Amino acid sequence: MPTYEFRCRTCDDTFELKRPMSESSAPASCPDGHADTVKLLSMAGIGGTAAQPSGGGGGCCGGGCCG
Ligand SMILES: [Zn+2]
Repeated sequence: MPTYEFRCRTCDDTFELKRPMSESSAPASCPDGHADTVKLLSMAGIGGTAAQPSGGGGGCCGGGCCG
């Protein structure tokens, strides 16, 4: 089962969830129960993508989620 990474916009933290691909785009609540989360593109265990430095890079601009 794939692991999907989410970020909570309320506590600005990231967390991972294992769920079927059929539910990959379903809403997820953070461990603290906040529902305002966004799914990140990085998926653990798939490919060999190097970890991107966090902060200041605006790494999600390609997906149109900036601003
Ligand atoms: Zn949260």
